[in-house]
Amino acid sequence: MSYLYSYYTQVFFLLFIIINHVSEIYLTRRQLEMFRKHAQTPPEEFKTFLTDSEHQKAIQYSSAKLKMGLFHLVFDGIVLFYWFPLRGAEKLYLALPFEGMHHEVLFLITFSMIQFALGLPWSIFSTFVLEEKFGFNKSTPKLFILDRVKGLILGASIGVPLLYTIFFLFSSLGDWWWLASFVLLTLFQFFLVWIYPTIIAPLFNKFHPLDGDELKQGIEALVQSAGFNAKEVFVMDASRRSSHGNAYFTGFGKNKRVVFFDTLLKQLENSEILAILAHELGHMKLKHIPKSMLTSIILSFLGFWLMGKLGNQQWFFHGHFIRSMSPGVLLLLFTQALPLYTFWFTPIGTWISRKREFEADAYAAKETNPQNLIQGLLKLYQQNASPVVTDKIYSGFYHSHPPALERIRKLESFKS
Ligand SMILES: [Zn+2]
Repeated sequence: MSYLYSYYTQVFFLLFIIINHVSEIYLTRRQLEMFRKHAQTPPEEFKTFLTDSEHQKAIQYSSAKLKMGLFHLVFDGIVLFYWFPLRGAEKLYLALPFEGMHHEVLFLITFSMIQFALGLPWSIFSTFVLEEKFGFNKSTPKLFILDRVKGLILGASIGVPLLYTIFFLFSSLGDWWWLASFVLLTLFQFFLVWIYPTIIAPLFNKFHPLDGDELKQGIEALVQSAGFNAKEVFVMDASRRSSHGNAYFTGFGKNKRVVFFDTLLKQLENSEILAILAHELGHMKLKHIPKSMLTSIILSFLGFWLMGKLGNQQWFFHGHFIRSMSPGVLLLLFTQALPLYTFWFTPIGTWISRKREFEADAYAAKETNPQNLIQGLLKLYQQNASPVVTDKIYSGFYHSHPPALERIRKLESFKS
C-alpha cells in the first residue's frame, strides 16, 4: 500500500513540477503579448499624464524583466528536477558529515547556501545589467556584496538557533513536536515583525523622521484622526540602491511605522505625499497587518499539523524522491516542494490583498482628496516605469496591488 502511495505521489509531484513551470511560462507570455499590443501608446485614460516615450520605456523595461524571468523559470525547473527526481537532495543528505541534530542543521544550511549561490548570478544580472540599462540602479558592487553578507549573517543568526530548537523539540516531544514548533515559530514571527522596523531594517538603510514645515501640519491632522503618532512617519534612504520609489507601512504596537522612500518624496507635491500617507494610515486603521498575521498563523498551523501527520509516513518521503526520513528532510520538503502545490491558491491571496488596497484607497479618499492620490499613484507608475497595462490572468497571480486603471476608476468614483 505504502509502495502504491509513494508511486502515485512521485507521478503527482513530477506533474506539478512540469505543469507549474509551463503555466508560469504561459502566464509570462500572456503578459508579454499584452505589452507587445500596447507597445507604442498608453490607453486613452492615461494619455494626458503619460507621454508616449514614458509609456514605451515602461513597456521595454518590464518586457526585459519578464524575458529574464522566462530564463529564470526554466533554470528553476531544472534545479528542482535535479534536487528531487534526480535525487540531488538525497545525495547531499548522505554526503554530509556529523550525526543527529548537527547533521540535520548542516544539511539545511548547505542546501540554502547552494540555492543562494545559484541565485546570485540572477540578482547580479538584474541589478547591474537590467536595472542599470534603464537607469534605475544606484547600487555599487561594494554595497551589493555588503548587503548579501549582512543578509547571510542575519539569516544564519536567526535560522541556526531556530533550527536547533525545532530539531530538539522533534527528538524530545514525539508526536506533539509539530504543535510546540508551531507555537515557537509563531511567537518568533511576532518578535521579528516587532523588531523589523527598529532593528532589522536599519541594518540596511538609514531612517529619519519626515518633517518639513509645510508638511508638518498636514501630517499632524492625518495621523491624529488615524490614532497614530507623527513621530512614526519616516523617510528611508532608498536612493542608495535604486531610484525606484515606494512607501510602506510596517510593524505593530509601539513599533509601527509609515516609511517613505526618499526617491518618492522627490517626485511628489505635498498634497500627494499626504494622500499616500493617508493610504498607508488606512492600512493601519483598518488593521490590515494583524489580519494578515492571523491568516499566516492559521496557514502555518495547518502546515505544521500536516508535517506532524506526514513526518512519519514513508510514502511521503519516497514520493518526493528521498529515502532518508529525517526532520531536516521533512522541513526541506515543506519549504521546497509544498509551494508547487500551493501555487494554485495564490490568486486568493492576491484577491484579499487587492481588496485591502481598495479599502486603504477609500480611506485616503475620505481623509484627503481622491485626485491627490490619483496623481501620486500615477507619479509612482511613471517613476518606477511600471506599465499601466496588464494581462488580467497574469496579474491575478502576481500583482498584490490592483491594476492602475481599476484603482484610478474607483478613486474617480469617490469624487463628488
Ligand atoms: Zn497599500
